[in-house]
Amino acid sequence: MLITTCGAGFRGAIGHLVSIQLHHTRGARFHVSGLHWNHARHILARIHAALEVSGLPRPSGALTLHIGPAHVKPESNELDLPIALCLLAVAGAIDSNKLATLFSMGELALDGRLLADESNPSRANFTCSSTMLGAEMEINRCLVPMGAETWANRFFPSQLPTFHADHLSEAVDFLQNNIPLHRAPEVTDTCTFTDHWPTPQYDSIADSTGNKEALVLAAAGGHHAFILGPPGSGKTLMARSLAELLPNLTITDRAHLKHMHAMRNEVFHADDRIPFREPHAQSTPASITGAWNVLGAMPGELALSHRGVFCMDEFPEFARNAIEALRGPLENGYIDLNRAQGSQRFPAKTLTVATANPCPCGHLTSRNNRCRCTPGTVRKYLSRMTGPLMDRFSIHIETQLDRGPAELSDVSSLSGKDAIRAITWVRARKAELTSSSSLGLDWEPGVKHQLQVWSQQHGVSRRGFESIQHVAETACLIEAWQHQRSTESLKISENHMVLATRFRIFDQAEWLDRAFNPQWPQYQTTE
Ligand SMILES: [Zn+2]
Repeated sequence: MLITTCGAGFRGAIGHLVSIQLHHTRGARFHVSGLHWNHARHILARIHAALEVSGLPRPSGALTLHIGPAHVKPESNELDLPIALCLLAVAGAIDSNKLATLFSMGELALDGRLLADESNPSRANFTCSSTMLGAEMEINRCLVPMGAETWANRFFPSQLPTFHADHLSEAVDFLQNNIPLHRAPEVTDTCTFTDHWPTPQYDSIADSTGNKEALVLAAAGGHHAFILGPPGSGKTLMARSLAELLPNLTITDRAHLKHMHAMRNEVFHADDRIPFREPHAQSTPASITGAWNVLGAMPGELALSHRGVFCMDEFPEFARNAIEALRGPLENGYIDLNRAQGSQRFPAKTLTVATANPCPCGHLTSRNNRCRCTPGTVRKYLSRMTGPLMDRFSIHIETQLDRGPAELSDVSSLSGKDAIRAITWVRARKAELTSSSSLGLDWEPGVKHQLQVWSQQHGVSRRGFESIQHVAETACLIEAWQHQRSTESLKISENHMVLATRFRIFDQAEWLDRAFNPQWPQYQTTE
C-alpha cells in the first residue's frame, strides 16, 4: 500500500514543495529516506504521542517513508501534519485518495494541537516555489494550522481553497467526515497606488522638450526606455524618477521577490514599493541574468527588479554578452536558466531603462560641438546600441545640456500627482483590454497606413512597428484620462501616432549616420 501527499519542506530560508510517500507492508521495519534520521525520529515521536493522546489509531507493520526530492532534506517541523495524515491513512482512519491532492503543513504538539509558528520568516518565502510547482502536483486544497492566516493566504493566491484546523482530530474529521473547517478569505491581488506618494525626482526634472511626457508614457505602458545625452544632462535623474511613477507591488509579486531574495540568502524588505536595481557596467552576464551554484539556481539583477525598474547606466560600457542576454527577458518578461544542473524560470517583468552618452567623450550632440572623438571610436562606442536589442526599447529620449528656445514645446507636462493618477488609470485600462481578448484600441481611418509608410521610410523592423503601435495606444489612453473619456469610443488618432514616432529618435533622420558623418556637421535638432 502506497500513500502520497504534499507538504512544505524548509531548509534554511528556502521552502520547497515536497512529496511525502509512505509505503506499508507486513513486517516490523521502519525506513526513512530524504530526511535526516535524527530529525525523522523527533517527528515520529511527536506524531505517536499526538495520535495516542488524541485517541487516533496508530498503524502497525513495516513502513518506508520518503520525502522527495531527496536532495532537499528538510530541517523544519512543518512535515508533522502530512506525515501524521499518511500514518492515519495506513491505519484506515482516512481515505488515502483524499490525501493525494492535499497540501498540508504544520507542527504537532504532543496533545495533537497544530502549531503555527508565525515568527518563522522562511514561510513567507515558500509561496513562490509552491505556486510554481502546484500545477504539476495537482493540488486542489490546502490545510494549515489556525492562526497562520497571514501567511497561508499568500500560498496559492486566489487559486486554491485554504482551510485552517486547530487540532489533528479536526483535520481527520474534515478529511474523512466532511465536517467543515474555517476557510481562509480569498485575497484580492490587485495593484495599488499610494495616491500621495511623493515624486521629488520626477518633479525636479527641468522639462522643456517633452521628456517628462516620455517618462509618463513609459511608466504607463511599461515600455522600455533609452535615454541618450551628454554627461550632466539629467539622464540618471530621469531613469531614477521612473521608480517613483510605478504602482505598488501586488501580493504575488512581493512573494516572488521575497523568494528570489531568499534564494540568494538576502532579505527582501517587505514594503510595498517596487525594486530599483542598478547593476554596475562591469557586471558579469551571470550576475544580471542569474546563475547556478552549489545551492541551486540564483536569480540575477534582472529578476530581482521584477515589477520594478532595471536601470543600465552607461549602457555601452556593459559587456556585449550581458547585453545580448537581455533580448529574450525584455520581450517575454521572464528568464529561463537552462544549465547542466537543471532549469529554472524566474519572473522578470521589469521596466528597463538604459542611459548612454552619444560618444566616448559625451559631447557629440552638444551645441558647442566640443567633441573630439574620431568617427572610428564613435562607431565602436555606438555599435552596441544597434540591432535587435534596441528594438526592445520603445521610447527613446534625448537630453540636452543647453536648451534653445526653439526646443520649447507646447507640451504641458503632468505634475507628479497627476502623472501617478494617469499611470494608474492607464494600467488598469490596459489590463482590461488584455483580459477581454480584444485586439486593443481601434485606429482612425488611414492612420495605420501612415504609420506603415513612415516605418518603411525609416527602415523600422516589424518589432519596432508593433512597439510604436503600443506606445500610440498608451498615448491615446493618457489623453482619454486627461479628458475623462470612456475607453469604448476611443480611437488612436494621427496625433497619438506622431507622438509615438517622436520618441523613436534612433529610427529618425538617420541618427547614427549623422553621428558617423566624418564631416562632423554641427548637430541640429530634426524638424
Ligand atoms: Zn565625443
